[in-house]
Amino acid sequence: MAYLRSALKFLVIAALAVYGWLRVKLASEPILIILTYHRILPKHHPDREFEQPGMVTAPEVLRRHIHLMKSLGAIPIHLDEWLRLRASDRALPKLSVALTFDDGWKDNFQYAYPILKSENVPATVFLVTRLVDTNDVFWPEKVLKLLTSKPINEAGPEYQWLTPYLPNAQSNQSPLTLYQADQAINRLKSLDDATIMAHLSEASQRSPSSDASGDGRSILNRQELTEMASDDLVRYGAHTQHHFRLNRLDNPATLKREILGCLDDLNEFGTGIVPIFCYPNGDITAEGRKLVEDRYRAACTTKTGWNLGNRDPFDLHRFNLHDGNSGSARHLLATIGRGIL
Ligand SMILES: [Zn+2]
Repeated sequence: MAYLRSALKFLVIAALAVYGWLRVKLASEPILIILTYHRILPKHHPDREFEQPGMVTAPEVLRRHIHLMKSLGAIPIHLDEWLRLRASDRALPKLSVALTFDDGWKDNFQYAYPILKSENVPATVFLVTRLVDTNDVFWPEKVLKLLTSKPINEAGPEYQWLTPYLPNAQSNQSPLTLYQADQAINRLKSLDDATIMAHLSEASQRSPSSDASGDGRSILNRQELTEMASDDLVRYGAHTQHHFRLNRLDNPATLKREILGCLDDLNEFGTGIVPIFCYPNGDITAEGRKLVEDRYRAACTTKTGWNLGNRDPFDLHRFNLHDGNSGSARHLLATIGRGIL
């Protein structure tokens, strides 16, 4: 039975890959494919133990993606240059590929940038500006570490608020598996970010040993930003100031600050800035979108698909990639094929 299932899976992936390849090759109008990455970490990097699997791509997989896109005839292009080209009367390449990296992880500098350089491929990194130059990290990473690194004491102050989101069979109090913790994080998304962050900071005050944020820097610093922008290969877009989901804010002033203040922060960094926004978690309200349209030239979503010449610039579609959905060239083609079904 297991054999049959894996044979079937193989066939579905092969069919989707052929479909993706054919659609790309036979397209009659210019296409922009935007690839999305988060963290780039080698196979045995210790950070992988405390990261959601859907966030991580190995360096050799990133390189494989670039090779595949080039072999399909794709022209690597800065996202803002494609937008500028589209707005002009000049012809768009038949197939363009723009790489984007969300959140601004330090590993983008360590492991992705050398590959971008050697392959001469440009990219846009969407920064969460108030995390740059800090040792802070996003709440899912803090929760993940809390749940997977040591036995869970449900009576402990750092775990009490988390209890409703843990798996029911959590009776032996052993640490959660990465998969279980990933599911708990998805359930926690029913709370707003400020509430989760308040719980985490209260827990870390009452139980300092639970504070998972301070052990080493995970986010880019200004020096790394400057170095990556120095040869114009990497440019920086906006991903808010704190990565709050923008449809979960109750205060219009916070919405404004997260969207407009982020661009002010970028301009203050002063290097390689592009006025392109990226909605955290893909979430936005009508009011938020108006603010984005006022100050930015375009915005990236979490919607899957490619972009034809008539795509709304504030609704750019992308392919979110990680080892699990694009470890091989065949898988990447299948992921593209599935996204344009
Ligand atoms: Zn993000």
